[in-house]
Amino acid sequence: MKYKAYTLRNFESIPQIQQYLSEEERHAIRVVGEVLPFKVNNFVVDELINWDNFEKDPMFLLTFPQKEMLSEEDFEAVSNALLRGAPKQEIQEIVRQIRFKLNPHPAGQLNKNTPEWNGVKLTGIQHKYRETVLFFPSHGQTCHAYCTFCFRWPQFIGDKELKFAMQEVELLIDYLRAHPEVTDVLFTGGDPMVMNIKRLEHYIGALLDAKLPNLRSIRIGSKALTYWPYRFLTDVDADAVLALFERVVNSGVELAFMAHFNHYVEVAHPDVQKALKRIIATGAQVRTQAPVMRGINDDPAIWRDMWKEQVKIGCIPYYMFVARDTGAQDYFAVTLADALDIYRKAFQQVSGLARTVRGPSMSATPGKVQILDILELEGEKVFALRFLQSRVPEWSGKLFFAKYNPNAIWLDDLEPAFGKERFFYEEEAPLSIETV
Ligand SMILES: *Cc1c(COP(=O)(O)O)cnc(C)c1O
Ligand code: SF4
Repeated sequence: MKYKAYTLRNFESIPQIQQYLSEEERHAIRVVGEVLPFKVNNFVVDELINWDNFEKDPMFLLTFPQKEMLSEEDFEAVSNALLRGAPKQEIQEIVRQIRFKLNPHPAGQLNKNTPEWNGVKLTGIQHKYRETVLFFPSHGQTCHAYCTFCFRWPQFIGDKELKFAMQEVELLIDYLRAHPEVTDVLFTGGDPMVMNIKRLEHYIGALLDAKLPNLRSIRIGSKALTYWPYRFLTDVDADAVLALFERVVNSGVELAFMAHFNHYVEVAHPDVQKALKRIIATGAQVRTQAPVMRGINDDPAIWRDMWKEQVKIGCIPYYMFVARDTGAQDYFAVTLADALDIYRKAFQQVSGLARTVRGPSMSATPGKVQILDILELEGEKVFALRFLQSRVPEWSGKLFFAKYNPNAIWLDDLEPAFGKERFFYEEEAPLSIETV
């Protein structure tokens, strides 16, 4: 299959858009697509979306901007500007102001996690958890399609100040040499699998050639399996990509392919399964993760079927996340209580082989916080929570309690239980990443 991308500029040429959507619905895409990144492709459009029921289709909601993703006021502002043919500059200014309100950098990503090295701010690296460094190769900062909920959305709208990216793999290697506690490097973006084989070899090859004694795992965070499975099947360099994966494995470094799957329909597609099998045959491990999103996958049956199918093919279910506090969060938000219910009901219906999945988890400023349970303790209804990961390694695994709040959608909405003023992690001096 030949890749064809659709964006704001050409989406109205998609035959299904012409056939199924009203002018009003197309206008809504034009409006919201000005603010949030929008890109989809022929595989998603022709193979994954059921157009007969597009208003409710999870893959349509995942990739096409929806009117309600903006507040009414913001929607009207852009809509009016477009309808009266306002000058481009004026529209851009309206859009800029709206984006600014959408919390482009949740969980302190820009300032809190970016390390410094020899006086240089390493903008393409994030180091939040002791063992794992995130690396943002500058050529991997886009995706084969964009998820409408993506918390990395500022990276796709061309705002240089908001972008993390770093070309110099040498700086990464220096950093890893100086930080022997780091065992994992996670290539992320965007989607690193948008890079051609030359670029992938440049980055991954350099890491292998450096023979870092502390490097145990290279992880690649990617949605290419379901946004463009032909990356591993028929693209001109598909075989070379798989050969590179084999090279990593044969060098003694683990290759963990962190696959983003939102819905059962993605795993069920025969070409996705073929691609998965080829990746697994290289000796790579495939671990799967996704956020729970209203209208897309807020149903235990979807997760149950997805995890079962994943395990059947040889994947390891890894994380279920909570929608981050950025972009169109309100549109997609599932309450913490509902997320726990969905996780638990799905968990109860799969065998132990799929119970490797942890969640629901919030990637918040202090760390990854898992919602474990809702219970009554000392006469108070509480959430039991624990850190799966944290800025301070000693916090990981620690249990703590928050007042039950049925409307809470994020850690910031929670208050400590039992009349405490602060959560335990707010009492200890914050540890900056430089001192880890
Ligand atoms: C999730 C995450 C990681 C990886 O954590 P694991 O629990 O090891 O998968 C690393 N860095 C950041 C910033 C993360 O959010
Ligand atoms: S594939 Fe990942 S990085 Fe790309 S838009 Fe979706 S969630 Fe964001």
